[in-house]
Amino acid sequence: MLQAVIGLEIHAQLLTVTKAFCSCSAETFGETVNSAVCPVCTGQPGTLPILGNGTVKLSLMAALAFNCRINRRSFFDRKNYFYPDLPKGYQITQYFRPLAEQGFIDVRLGNGQKRRVRINRIHIEEDAGKTIHEGASSIAASRDRGGTLVDLNRCGIPLAEIVTEPDITSPREARLTMETIRDILRYMSVCSGDMEKGDLRCDANISVVDTEDGKSSQRVEVKNINSFRFVEKALEFEFERISEAMRKGHQITKETRTWDFASRTTISMRTKEEESDYRYFPEPDLPPLEVSENLIDKTRREIPEMPDRKTDRFIAEYGLPEHDSTVLSADRELSDFFERAAGLTGKPKETANWMMGELIRILKEQGLTIGQTLLKPEHMADLLDLLDSGKISSNNAKEIFPDVVTTGVMPSEIAEEKGLHQVDDEAEIEVAIREAMSANPKAVDQYRSGKKGVLSYFIGAVMKKTRGRADPSIVNEVARRLLENE
Ligand SMILES: [Zn+2]
Repeated sequence: MLQAVIGLEIHAQLLTVTKAFCSCSAETFGETVNSAVCPVCTGQPGTLPILGNGTVKLSLMAALAFNCRINRRSFFDRKNYFYPDLPKGYQITQYFRPLAEQGFIDVRLGNGQKRRVRINRIHIEEDAGKTIHEGASSIAASRDRGGTLVDLNRCGIPLAEIVTEPDITSPREARLTMETIRDILRYMSVCSGDMEKGDLRCDANISVVDTEDGKSSQRVEVKNINSFRFVEKALEFEFERISEAMRKGHQITKETRTWDFASRTTISMRTKEEESDYRYFPEPDLPPLEVSENLIDKTRREIPEMPDRKTDRFIAEYGLPEHDSTVLSADRELSDFFERAAGLTGKPKETANWMMGELIRILKEQGLTIGQTLLKPEHMADLLDLLDSGKISSNNAKEIFPDVVTTGVMPSEIAEEKGLHQVDDEAEIEVAIREAMSANPKAVDQYRSGKKGVLSYFIGAVMKKTRGRADPSIVNEVARRLLENE
C-alpha cells in the first residue's frame, strides 16, 4: 500500500504591538505601503536590532502549549539570501539553537481517534517584505506590463516557525493538524490564525512510502499554501502525482512546488536548494536569548485549557457528542459562552444543540464571532424556558432567534410583541374546534363513522385559526374528546 508521509512548516505571525527588533507597529495590514518602516527593519548601516519582550512572551506561550522543551539559552542566526523585498540581504532567525524543541500535539481525527504529531522545533524569526507585481497576476506577465513594486511594511514582523515531524499520514490529517495548530494559537491570542491575511502560512513536505517494501519517494515541498482547504487539496494532488510515478517506476525529483488555485494543480518552482545555500551564521548584533525558569513558570500559568482537553471535558462533564464538543471547544469565546449558558439553563445538551444549529448558522451568515453579537447566556436560558414550558413552539423559537442575536432583546419579550405565545388554553382551543365542527358537519360524520384520518382536518383548522400558535398536543386531545363524546 502507498502511504503519504507529511510534515508541516508553519509560520505564525505573533500578535505583538511592535515588530520583533524595532518599535515599528506590527499592525500593518491595510497600511500605506512602506509607511510602517524604520532604519532598523530596513537594515540601514549603523543600526542595531533589539529583541522585544512581546515576541519572546508569545513564542514562549506557543512553545509551552505545544508541549516543547524550552532551551533556557537560544541564539539568533542570519539566513542569507538576496531578494528585492529583503533589503538587509538576510533574515534573522534561530537556526542552530531554537527557542524550543521536541514537543507534540494531539490531533482529533473524529470517531474518538487522535493522531499525535511531534513538533520538531519552534523558533523565532522575522518576516520579509512583499513584492507586488504591477498590473499582472504573475511574474511572467509583469515582464510585459509595468514592473514589480516592493512593500517593506512586513519586514521585521515577528513570526514563530513551527516545524512538525513527518508524522502525518494523509492530506486530511494535514488539514486537521493545521486547524488544530490554528485553534491553539488563537486560544492564547498568540496569532490571529487568519490565513487569508497571511497571518498564518504553511509549507508542506510530502513523500510517499510503499508500506510493503519500505521504499520511499523523494520529498517534495509545497510552498505558500494560504487556506486550510488548499493544504488538503495540494497534498491530495501531490500524493496522486507521486503515487502514479511510483507505480510506473518513474523517479520523483526533489523539488519545491506551489499550489496553483486556478488550475487546481501544483506547479514546479525550483529544485530544492540545500540548506547550506543560505550560509547561516550566528547573528553578531544580538545577545543569546536567556529565558528564566521564573518566566517559564509564569507563562505556563497563563496558558488556558487547550481545545483538545476541553473537548474531552465537554464529553465527560456535559455528555456532548464528540463532534459538538470539538466544534464548540475549537473557539474560546464559543466554548466560554456554552459553559455559562449551560450553567444557567441546566440543560447542556439542548444548549449545545441550539448553538450548533441555529447560532453557528447565523454567525456564519453574518460573518460574526459570538462576541460581536448581542447574544448573552441569559437569552439562551430564557429561550429554553419558553420552549420547555410550552409557551412557544420550536418553529417560533427558531423564527425569533435571529432577532435575539442581532437586537439583544429577551426572547420572551419578542415572543410577546409578535404574539407568538402558544395557545395552551383549553377553552380557547375548544371554541376553535367547535367552530370547525359546525362549519363542516360532513367531516364530523365521517370521523364518527370510523374515518379517523379526518382528525387532521380539525387540527389543521385550529392551527390556521390560531396562526400556528396552538399547542398541537392539546388540540389533538381536545379534538378527539369532542368528536368522540358528543
Ligand atoms: Zn522598524
